[in-house]
Order: sequence, then C-alpha cells, then structure tokens
Amino acid sequence: MQPFSLLIDGQLVAGDATMPVLNPATEEILAECPRASHAQLDRAVAAAKAAFPAWAATPIEQRRQLIARMADVLEANAADLARLLTSEQGKPLSDATGEVLGMAAFFRYLGSLELPMRVIEDGNGRRVEAHRRPLGVVGAIIPWNYPLLILGFKLPPALLAGNTLVVKPAPTTPLSTLKFAELVKDILPPGVLNVIADANDLGDALTRHPDVRKISFTGSTATGQKVMASAAQTLKRITLELGGNDASIVLDDVDPKKVAPGIFEGAFQNSGQVCLAIKRLYVHEAVYDEICNELATLANTAVVDDGLKQGTKLGPLQNKMQYEKVKGFLDDAKRNGKVIAGGDVMDRPGYFIQPTIVRDIAEGSRLVDEEQFGPVLPVIKYSESDDVIRRANGTSYGLGASVWASDPDRAYAVANRLEAGTVWINKHLDMAPHIPFGGAKQSGIGVEFAEEGLAEFTQLQIINAAV
Ligand code: NAD
Repeated sequence: MQPFSLLIDGQLVAGDATMPVLNPATEEILAECPRASHAQLDRAVAAAKAAFPAWAATPIEQRRQLIARMADVLEANAADLARLLTSEQGKPLSDATGEVLGMAAFFRYLGSLELPMRVIEDGNGRRVEAHRRPLGVVGAIIPWNYPLLILGFKLPPALLAGNTLVVKPAPTTPLSTLKFAELVKDILPPGVLNVIADANDLGDALTRHPDVRKISFTGSTATGQKVMASAAQTLKRITLELGGNDASIVLDDVDPKKVAPGIFEGAFQNSGQVCLAIKRLYVHEAVYDEICNELATLANTAVVDDGLKQGTKLGPLQNKMQYEKVKGFLDDAKRNGKVIAGGDVMDRPGYFIQPTIVRDIAEGSRLVDEEQFGPVLPVIKYSESDDVIRRANGTSYGLGASVWASDPDRAYAVANRLEAGTVWINKHLDMAPHIPFGGAKQSGIGVEFAEEGLAEFTQLQIINAAV
C-alpha cells in the first residue's frame, strides 16, 4: 500500500516512528503508518498557532470557498477514500462511500453557515454589539467508528469560525484521515490544518497543551472525563461527544413487521459500533414475542463478511480490543438471557461476531446496564409505560432514545419524558448537519452541528459603546 504521511505546517512528513495498521476483516497488516512523537505534536501546535492570525483575518467568504473546495476533493476521491476506509475500519463499502459523501455534505452545509454580528441595543446613549471571534488553535480528537464523518463534524465549523486545527485520529483508523489531509493540503495555507497520528499516547498531551484553546472530542465517556480534567489546567473550551446506552421503547400498538427493520438498522448499523445505536430495546409484552421473532429473522439473514465484498451487511468489529469486549457481552448474554439469533464469534480470521438477539434479559446484566458497542441487542419486556420510562432513564448516559408507536400522541407523551439529547419517533439514527446534536447527562457536554455547534468554536465578545 502507498506510503502515508503526517501533515504538519503544510508539509507531508514522515513520523518519528511507525506503527502497523491492521485490516480488521483479515487481521493482516494493511499499512505501516507514521507515528508522531511529542516533538512532532508540538510542531503541529506551533504551526497552527503561527497560522492563526492570518487565517482569522481572512474574510469568512474566502474561508467558506476553501471549505467547499475540500468538499469537491472529497467527492472526486470518494471511491478511493471509501475503499481505504473499509479496509481499515471494516464497514461495508457502500456504507464507507456514504460516509465519505456524508462528510462532504457536512463540509458543504456547515461551511455555508454565517457568523453575523448581532446588535443587541442601539440608542439611549448605548450601542451594544455581539461578535463571534475565533478561539485560536483547536484540537480535534476522533474515534475509530466513523473516522471521516466525525472529522466532517468538526473541521468545517472550526475553520469557518477562523480557528486553526490539529487533528488526531484514532490509532486503529488513521489512514483515511491522513489520505484526506494529503488530498487537501494545498487548498489551505500552511499550518491551518495539521494531522498527526499516534499510538494512543498523544491525546493527553494535546488536551494539556497550553497553546490549544479548545478540544473537540468524540470518544468514550471514560476518556472524555480525562479530557475534561486535563483541559481544566488551562480552562480550555471543550465539546465532548461521548458514549451512550440508548433505550428504544416499542409501544403495544405497533405493527411488528413494519417496525422491526428500522429497529434492526438502528441497532446493527456499523456492526453496532455507533454512539447512538439502539443498545437496549424495551418492548411491550403484547408484541414482545413477535418483535423478538422478527428481529431474530433479520439477524439470521444479514450477510456478515468482509466489507469489500458486495452484499455484505455487517463487517467485522473494528479492532481486537472491541472484539474481546463484545465477546464478554456474549458470555453475559448466555448467562442472563436467552440467545435467539447469533451468539458466537465466526470461525474465520478477522474480528467477526454474528448479529445476536437476546431475549428474556433485564437490568442487572452487563448487556443491559453497560454500553456494548457491538452487534448484540438485548430485548427487554415491559408492561407499563411509567415503569419503562423509569427504566429507560435509569442510566448515567443520555445520548439518544426512540419510541415506536402507531398513535403519535402516545409516542410524544413518552418521548417528552425521556432524558436524552435526541429522541426519535418511529426511527433511530436520523442525523443531519442542520439539526443540533449533543448528549445529556454523562453522554457529553455541548453540541455539534448547526449554528449552535458553530458557536462552540467561537468566543462571544460584546462591544459596548457610549453613543
Ligand atoms: P476512546 O475514548 O478510547 O478514544 C477516542 C479518541 O481519544 C482516540 O483518538 C484516542 O486515541 C483518544 N484518546 C485516548 N486517550 C486519550 C486521552 N487521555 N486524552 C485525549 N484523547 C485520548 O474511544 P473509542 O474506543 O475510540 O470509541 C468508542 C467510544 O466512543 C464509544 O463509547 C462510543 O459511544 C463513543 N462515541 C461517541 C460518539 C458521539 O458522538 N457521542 C461518536 C462515536 C463514538
């Protein structure tokens, strides 16, 4: 495979060390990846700091055009980037193509937003203006489930607002991000965008760095807590998009055949490695058996294979650590519930796990109480709506939730009582760049997307003049 480079100060450079990146479908080495040293991280931050004044002074229209040109490059290279993404991340090629094009769509929409000055008051001896100023150097830390899409959440608003960036992808999925950096490097002035790769050892240094003014982080709640603690040293701005244990509630008036495919998609997309996937499914006793059977059929017929093969619905888990973790959840499922589809790893190389449906399971089991982040869904029976709302809210997470019902009034009545940043009705996992997205409780701090997300990459400044 082609060589990969870091992007520091507009230059493609080798890492001070290298590290192997594996293909999770084969466990073979896909490429040797450059690995940045602490000194290279410092150089990337210094380059971003040096580039900041000129970039912040560049008219927003010009910054907007450059972000749109990056979207053009993404679209023109979608096929190659998608193949690389599937090879390192595992997801089916059609989903990887959707991810690259989705990233371009986020660039287009978020890059088109405005940051207007707002006049709060003008008269009676006082003129008050509210301006949105850039912060400076922003660190973007990305997980391995959607390496490109999540970069698409962060890069356009950070740069549009006039900040410069140091991006750090996850150690098991750095290649598509490095390739993207190589493709767009000549669009931006040197130092505006820097991309480094690490072996899980530079995140803390980036979040502590005194010259970094904001960290935009997506990853686990445990790491988010560390980011918040390190950022406290310099009172950095932080946006944290963290883990979830999304509850989905099926009311007794649904048509099981009609809702089951949407529920399956909401739970098993990207082999369940989605922060907002359905992770606990609560089903009313009146339709419990039927929903369980429909989901088991869907799981038994879903094609699990190498994402590069046409027709694959579920690829492997992304890395060995996650694979081992999900195996632990399978053991727990067998002890505490009844497995009605899947239940095992697959007898082949690669981190493959059969899509698994577990019924007759409840709170108190790991599979219900913890975030599985894999293709294993617990289906929990309930009989009363007050009780199920209490159980759905009985977690420290609060990312997403959904309600499935035929009667919209009943669906809204439940949705309004759920503690989550997003509650869907009769769907799950519908996101778009103009709809703000953020977590409640320990699923995060702040929001991404839309004007609300853009504002988090700025400092509000009031100019209050006597007139
Ligand atoms: P992770 O927290 O282990 O890693 C995320 C990133 O943080 C990686 O780039 C990693 O190298 C970096 N990192 C590691 N230690 C760090 C430190 N001390 N300081 C700063 N950065 C550090 O998460 P993961 O295993 O890559 O991803 C899975 C988790 O992410 C799941 O819990 C999932 O729910 C969550 N997630 C959340 C969202 C969301 O938007 N809410 C999206 C995707 C994934």
